[in-house]
Amino acid sequence: MSASALILKKGRERSLKRRHPWIFSGAVERVLGKPDSGDTVEVKSADGAVLALAAYSPDSQIRARAWSFAPGAKIDAAFFGERIAAAVRLRESLAAAKHTNALRLVHGESDGLPGLVVDRYADVLVAQFLSAGAERWREAILDALVEATRCEAIYERSDAEVRKLEGLEPRLGFARGNREAKRCPIVEHGLNFRVDVEGGQKTGFFLDQRENRQRVRALAAGREVLDGFSYTGGFAIAALAGGATRVMAVESSAPAIEVARENLAANPLDASKVEFVKADAFTHLRTLRDQGARFGLIVLDPPKFAPTAAQARNAARAYKDVNLLAFKLLAPGGLLATFSCSGGVDTALFQSIIAGAALDAGADAAILERFHAAPDHPVALEFPEGDYLKGLLVLRK
Ligand code: SAH
Repeated sequence: MSASALILKKGRERSLKRRHPWIFSGAVERVLGKPDSGDTVEVKSADGAVLALAAYSPDSQIRARAWSFAPGAKIDAAFFGERIAAAVRLRESLAAAKHTNALRLVHGESDGLPGLVVDRYADVLVAQFLSAGAERWREAILDALVEATRCEAIYERSDAEVRKLEGLEPRLGFARGNREAKRCPIVEHGLNFRVDVEGGQKTGFFLDQRENRQRVRALAAGREVLDGFSYTGGFAIAALAGGATRVMAVESSAPAIEVARENLAANPLDASKVEFVKADAFTHLRTLRDQGARFGLIVLDPPKFAPTAAQARNAARAYKDVNLLAFKLLAPGGLLATFSCSGGVDTALFQSIIAGAALDAGADAAILERFHAAPDHPVALEFPEGDYLKGLLVLRK
């Protein structure tokens, strides 16, 4: 094992003692030895106590990510085998596992595997290695995934922007097995979807919204529905299945709409009730408002406007604008299911943005429910950053 170590500045051991897994560059007093990117290092307090074993990442502001806080832990292939087996077991125990064959199997820090994301789409796994440490243990991780799931195909989508911050090049393609993966068929609560694992956004599908799509389905009966950022039609198709009288799905990406059309056709539903609009949602909602359109249920699930708190200001503006338009488009008694997946916008800020939007729209509104990511996206208590997805169900009185 490497004898390298990071010695922390005095007083900077506090977050590690609370088992937060990130060691920022500013907390490091000095580096002992010559660790390479991804090497396991001991993290020591100023007085020499070993606090954690962590993956060294010399290019990142997050200089190291803790693998383990156990004093005698050994970071080796067996370690990854155990962590991945535990993550897979947890998913097997979830109620969601009875309703779908598409689940997030590994959710990074919250599964004790910083920088690793793995989604399962039926018998295909999609893996993202997003940190120097995950990259270093790639082979062991891939072997452990095959062992724990018996899936023979693993597609790698290590093309996320964050890899640059870790000094890693993008990597795409099958890491294990090989098959057609542009339309992986999955089932979610009885609805059929096709997932473009190779070219879709993120790993191909937004699994975190599964239970919220199901909730929208239950609320949609008899309502005219607007799905503002519809991607491959998840909410739109759920709403139609729930008895929506008409659905308008707005999306700016042509490839996403193409998959959405196929998804609609893959279900025994009246496709003539759905209109796909390829447009910028901000522009299109403004046009609808000017035309005096009204909807009984609006879903807004925009992309991440603020990955970090630093971008929260501009993001707040964008969230407010689009939600204000939605309030104007809601009929009295209408429902708005509105989401933010921005890590930089917390629940309290999001709620105040929505309150501001309702006020400016002249809408009298109340929160009926709160939404979160599905339970296959756990949030480790010591890692509040994992709590990125928040949503509100708001009634326009
Ligand atoms: N609700 C979807 C996921 C939405 S992801 C689901 O359940 O699957 C956000 C989507 O917004 C992406 O598909 C992205 O292409 C789209 N998007 C981003 N900016 C947009 C804009 N300005 N107007 C319309 N769509 C946009």
